[in-house]
Amino acid sequence: MKANIQAGYNHNRQKLAELVPLSTPFALHIAPTHRCNFRCHYCTHGLGAVGKQKAGLTETDFPVEYLPRLVEQVKEFTEPLKMISFTGLGESLLYPELPKMIRLLSQAQSAETYDIITNGYLLTPEKTDQLIAAGLNNLRISLQGLTAEKYREVSGVKIDYDQLFRNIEYFYHNKGNCKLNIKIIDSCLEHPEDEQVFYQMFGDLCDTIFVEHLVEVQLSMAEKYEGLSIDTSRTMFQEKAEDRIACPYPFYMLQIDANGNVFPCCPLGLPLELSVGNMFQDTLKHIWHGKKLYDLWTQNLKGKRSEHPVCGRCTAYQCFTPPEDNLDLEREQILKKVEERGYV
Ligand code: SF4
Ligand code: SF4
Repeated sequence: MKANIQAGYNHNRQKLAELVPLSTPFALHIAPTHRCNFRCHYCTHGLGAVGKQKAGLTETDFPVEYLPRLVEQVKEFTEPLKMISFTGLGESLLYPELPKMIRLLSQAQSAETYDIITNGYLLTPEKTDQLIAAGLNNLRISLQGLTAEKYREVSGVKIDYDQLFRNIEYFYHNKGNCKLNIKIIDSCLEHPEDEQVFYQMFGDLCDTIFVEHLVEVQLSMAEKYEGLSIDTSRTMFQEKAEDRIACPYPFYMLQIDANGNVFPCCPLGLPLELSVGNMFQDTLKHIWHGKKLYDLWTQNLKGKRSEHPVCGRCTAYQCFTPPEDNLDLEREQILKKVEERGYV
């Protein structure tokens, strides 16, 4: 097997406590669309029309007319971001303007890398060529099974598995310097020996490969998770999940949904009451330096996260707990710096 078995996150991390408060977030997650071609049973898209409505999930696309404004706003930060990831509660490749979105941001040198997380089913050779030409640096494909039957069971769709495989093959052989990570969730494998089958099938068609752990990462799925008996002692990347007093995400990232709502973290299905602004009415830089995020930072640093109406019932931050991101031991010093900086 050519690929390295490696979890698909940046392993070259710096100690976050020494760097915050950041003038520019490290990462920006953008949801190009809230539509998906699959209905995975562990996802809000698998809840059916009533469940999706209850979760507030609408079939929205990021408005094309806002693309120039998105680029302008990202460029307002003092430095380029480390990463812009096209991901969210939807299938990024369903967004027809995705290559344009990447090209505009890439031409403006808005970030060091441009990543997509996708289920890969719409990755035609034509789409591959467009994405590579646009400046894509990393593609992460999440598989939902090793057979078409498994896709039907997990994602509720009939797929042509050979077609999916050939599209991945084409991407691998035509990706230039772009990195390809292929992953699957452990719950999508039938038997323990299927992990080796997965490596055999895809290990020569990507740069890194990994079996992720099913985690409780969508807040809108809270009720359904209870019936899935998920082992919460491990992170998405099969590491030990740890508790945190201060949730690290709001200190280094922002997430934009297709309606322009800006959230302080990467879990999906977040309620609007956690939104720290909307980029159609405000700017990302103003939101990053604004009072809502400031209040969330100080609440976390004072150890009062449990008093927040959303964060107080959230465990999604435990899906990814690298030691470099742990702020807990330095909370007092960071609070002082944050209060000195204030908000605009
Ligand atoms: S898990 Fe991904 S592919 Fe599956 S329904 Fe949700 S957004 Fe779509
Ligand atoms: S505690 Fe949960 S909801 Fe709150 S910022 Fe962290 S990940 Fe987001």
